[in-house]
Amino acid sequence: MEKPYNKIINGKLVIFSAPSGAGKTTIVHKLLESDLGLEFSVSAASRPKRQNEVDGKDYYFISVKDFKEKIKNEKFLEWEEVYKDHFYGTLKSEVERIWAKGHHVIFDVDVYGGINIKKYYKQKALAIFVMPPSIKHLEQRLRERSTESEENLSKRFEKAEHEMSFAHEFDRIIINDNLETAIAEAKEIVTEFLNKKEEKAS
Ligand code: ADP
Ligand code: 5GP
Repeated sequence: MEKPYNKIINGKLVIFSAPSGAGKTTIVHKLLESDLGLEFSVSAASRPKRQNEVDGKDYYFISVKDFKEKIKNEKFLEWEEVYKDHFYGTLKSEVERIWAKGHHVIFDVDVYGGINIKKYYKQKALAIFVMPPSIKHLEQRLRERSTESEENLSKRFEKAEHEMSFAHEFDRIIINDNLETAIAEAKEIVTEFLNKKEEKAS
């Protein structure tokens, strides 16, 4: 990936990844409510907006055509076709926008996107994998969330096991069994990382 910035910035990045239904969005929202100086990186997405979502807050909802145009124009730091015709991507302009405000960036991205962002930013980034207690729990949570069609559920379940096999590539793994415990652990890990003096990049 080409480096999009050449000015020195002290902002850090916190990445949350997990298979769909593990609970990462819930945990990220809780961290955003805490006074940690975090701001959410709003991704671009080509899937339809859910009822409870707000364009420009949860995602920038765009068409597949517009998404492909942005890929061509190198607007993305990373992007994935997470499910067929459902493209998701981190815009370079998001990191820039958030750092310019003096905030740290927090991401809710899929497992491969998380690994790519971590590889790129190295010690500046903390990559956390949210692990469900079991695949059964994940399936149950995703069904109870009632946001996906049967077809989309199957796609998400199919992908989950493969995604879980990448957990060891992350800096930390949080098991989201009891939600309150997982949130407390996430707060502790993120606070420690944000307070830590940056080590020289190797
Ligand atoms: P993801 O962003 O990883 O797809 P969500 O944060 O949307 O997952 O969580 C999936 C569903 O599971 C949501 O309905 C959420 O309220 C619920 N959930 C999250 N964590 C837990 C937990 N520890 N126990 C039970 N339900 C949970
Ligand atoms: P959902 O449709 O449930 O909001 O998200 C589906 C998956 O896409 C989730 O795993 C979510 O984290 C991921 N995702 C959201 N934004 C991005 C992004 O910018 N890049 C990548 N690679 N994945 C993303």
